[in-house]
Amino acid sequence: LLQARDIAKSFGRTPALRGLSLTIDAGEVVAVTGPSGSGKSTLLHCLAGITRPDAGEVRFGDTRLDRLDEETRTRLRRDNFGVVLQFGHLVPELTAAENIALPLMFAGAERRAAHAAAVEWLGRVGAVECAHLRPGDLSGGQAQRVAVARALATEPSVIFADEPTGALDTIAGEQVLARLLDAVRSRGTTLVLVTHDNQVAAYADREVIVRDGRLAEPAEPYREPDATLPEATR
Ligand code: ATP
Ligand code: MG
Repeated sequence: LLQARDIAKSFGRTPALRGLSLTIDAGEVVAVTGPSGSGKSTLLHCLAGITRPDAGEVRFGDTRLDRLDEETRTRLRRDNFGVVLQFGHLVPELTAAENIALPLMFAGAERRAAHAAAVEWLGRVGAVECAHLRPGDLSGGQAQRVAVARALATEPSVIFADEPTGALDTIAGEQVLARLLDAVRSRGTTLVLVTHDNQVAAYADREVIVRDGRLAEPAEPYREPDATLPEATR
């Protein structure tokens, strides 16, 4: 469903990605882990069509995301992707409920229905008390719950989540993660989840490790040493 082929991206002279390839199937839950600064967020942004790589290809189904113009990419994202960014991107002038209702209205919902759905989604992530608060008045953890609710609300086919439980204490983090996983598993949604937390990664179908802008080689599976010696040593 998603494919990155040999993507590279630099910020000025800093290379963030140096030729990374990754294929993600529909319905997969993939955890992206790796050290700070290794390129996880940049990879997520490239896969989600937020950032255009300098080189390489990014595909969503048959569509080359890296070739689309800004407007078409924005529309494709809106129709198919839900995104929870590492550093909150809620609209500061809108309340939490309005932040969630907005994409629903973009998708065609009528204002009151969108608002009611927004409050319902807030309830599902345990943040109904935030409905009338603006992002500036939310705690870090609350803002993340709101962002998760917003990503889920449009029922996208892919959710990209960058440390969605990063600012939460463990129990609250587990709750939000559980809600997110329940929602995606029950709908067959593809989830790309960036996390530095091994326990979070353990919930995924697959873990990929980013190191220095590339995927770390998967550890070789253990196998019995070959009993047959090579010709020359016999
Ligand atoms: P963390 O775990 O700390 O979130 P990360 O793995 O998500 O790290 P990235 O945010 O992808 O890492 O950053 C990869 C590299 O690219 C880093 O060296 C970072 O400083 C640099 N970088 C990322 N975004 C930008 C930007 N907008 N401008 C300049 N440099 C950037
Ligand atoms: Mg990051």
